[in-house]
Amino acid sequence: MAYTWEPRWEKIKIEKYGVIIHTCRDKITGMIACPICIHAASKCLGIEKIPATYKQKNIFFFTPEDLIIHIREYHTYGYLRKIGGRKKERSVG
Ligand SMILES: [Zn+2]
Repeated sequence: MAYTWEPRWEKIKIEKYGVIIHTCRDKITGMIACPICIHAASKCLGIEKIPATYKQKNIFFFTPEDLIIHIREYHTYGYLRKIGGRKKERSVG
């Protein structure tokens, strides 16, 4: 027998380290979702419809700190690595 988890999302606002993040939290487990990975804009914030090209990634955290670390390490630094070549050229001089 397989068990599945069906999240019941509520929208939350996280304010930490001068950063404000609007995302979804599961009412039952209290797990906080990465707003980029689960597309919070459509999942619980009601801002837009889910894009046809979007591929869902289920990434959840117990604390706001862990979420901020994930966004910084995975989304921000990942993006900077992608444009790394261009960044190097600009920093000359
Ligand atoms: Zn993420």
